[in-house]
Amino acid sequence: MRQEGRSADATTDFTTASPVGAATAASGSGPGMSTVAVVRCESYDQGLVDDAVREAVRLSAAVGGLAGLDGPVLVKPNVLAARPPEDAVDTHPAVVAAVIAALRELGAGDITVGDSSGGAGARTDVTDEALQVSGIARAAAGRGARVVSFDREDAVSIPSPRGPDGPALILARRPLEARCLVSVPKLKTHTLTLLTGAVKNLYGAVPGAAKREYHRRNPSLAEFAALLADIVAVLRPALHVVDAVVAMEGSGPSAGTPRRVGLIVAGTDPVAVDAVLAAVAGIAPERVPTTRVAAQRGLGQGDLRRIRVAGTPLAEVLVPGFRLPAAAGVVPHVPPFLTRLAVSLAVTRPTFRQEACTRCGVCVAQCPADALVLGRHRPAVDDERCIACFCCHELCPNQAVTVRYRHPLGALLFGRGNDPPHLR
Ligand code: SF4
Ligand code: SF4
Repeated sequence: MRQEGRSADATTDFTTASPVGAATAASGSGPGMSTVAVVRCESYDQGLVDDAVREAVRLSAAVGGLAGLDGPVLVKPNVLAARPPEDAVDTHPAVVAAVIAALRELGAGDITVGDSSGGAGARTDVTDEALQVSGIARAAAGRGARVVSFDREDAVSIPSPRGPDGPALILARRPLEARCLVSVPKLKTHTLTLLTGAVKNLYGAVPGAAKREYHRRNPSLAEFAALLADIVAVLRPALHVVDAVVAMEGSGPSAGTPRRVGLIVAGTDPVAVDAVLAAVAGIAPERVPTTRVAAQRGLGQGDLRRIRVAGTPLAEVLVPGFRLPAAAGVVPHVPPFLTRLAVSLAVTRPTFRQEACTRCGVCVAQCPADALVLGRHRPAVDDERCIACFCCHELCPNQAVTVRYRHPLGALLFGRGNDPPHLR
C-alpha cells in the first residue's frame, strides 16, 4: 500500500486570515507553512494549459519532491457526471492532458487516469460514460495514459485512520496502491460543502454504491467532512492540480453556472490549496467545512497567514461576486446566542421543478435515506427522512433539483431566497 505523505512544506506567509487581507500579505518563512502555486491560464487552448500546468507544478514545490514517479502513477480528475466540458461540471480534458504531460516531463512512465463518478451505484457503466462525454478518456488516451473506472476494479476495506473507534473505509484499490497519486480537481461551489476542491475531490476514490452508503452512515455535514478528512489521511496525494480556468459558481457542483476564473492552482498540501481556492472565491477558508475539519486534523495548513502563494499574487486574482449556492449546508455566521435557532432555521431540503423533471428516477435510486418517491409529475421528498446530503441535486441530469429552507424564516433570515438566481 502506498504510504508517501505530502512533500515538505515550503516557506513564507500571509499577514491576515481574511481573504482580502491575505491578498495584501507579505512573505515570510517558518515551520508549518505551505506553498500554493497560482498561475494564470485564460483559456483551454491546449498549449496555454500545458504551459500553465507545467509552471504551477514547478512553483508548487512538488518538483524534486514527487516520489514514486518510477512506479504506477494515478491521475484522479473530478469526473462527476456525463456532461460536456463547456458545462464546467467535470475537470476539463485539457487540464488532464496537461497534467499527464507535466508528469511525463518529470519522469513518469506508467500513468493511469481514473475515477468513480456520481451515481455510479446505479449501473457499472456510469463512470465509463462520464469519462467519454467529459472528453477525459480521449484526452488521456491521446497522451498515452490508460483510462479506468474504479467501479470496474477491486475495492478494499481498510481501518479508519482515526483508530479502532473510527469507521472503516471502503476505497478503490487503485488509488491506494498507486505509487504516486495526483489529484486534479475542478473549482466549483457545492450545495453541501460550499466549495469542492482538493479535499472533496478524493471522494471519487469511493467506488460505486459505497458512496450512497457513506452518505447514509454519515448524515450530518460534520460527519461527512470527517469522512472526507479520513480519505485524505489515507490516500495522501503527492500533488493537487486544480482546474480553475472556468469554475462553477451558484448551484454547484452540477447545476451551477460556469464562471471564468482563469487560473491553475497547484500544491502538495490539499488544505492549503483549498484555502487559496476559497480566498479566490471570496470565502473565508474556515467557512468551508472540509477545509476546517482537515486543518483541525493536521492534514494541512488552512490558515492563509501561513500559506505562501507562488506565482500570481492573490490580490490580483480574487473573483468579485462569486456566487455561492442558494442555501449551502453551512450555517452562516451568527451571534453565538442565536446559533441553535439559526441551525434550526438553516435546515435545508431539496425541491423538484416539475417543468425540468423527466421522471428518470436517478434521484430516487440514489437517495441514501430512501426519502424520495417518484410521484406522477416529479419526485416527492419525505422531509423527516431526508438527511440533506443533496445527492439528488448533484446527480440530477436535468438540473431539476433546487434547494429550499425547510422553515420559511430561513430564507428571510439568510437572505438568499430558495432557488439559485438562474433558476428563478
Ligand atoms: S428530479 Fe432529476 S433525477 Fe429526479 S426524476 Fe426528475 S429529472 Fe430525474
Ligand atoms: S432527498 Fe435528496 S437531499 Fe434528501 S436524503 Fe435523499 S438524496 Fe439526500
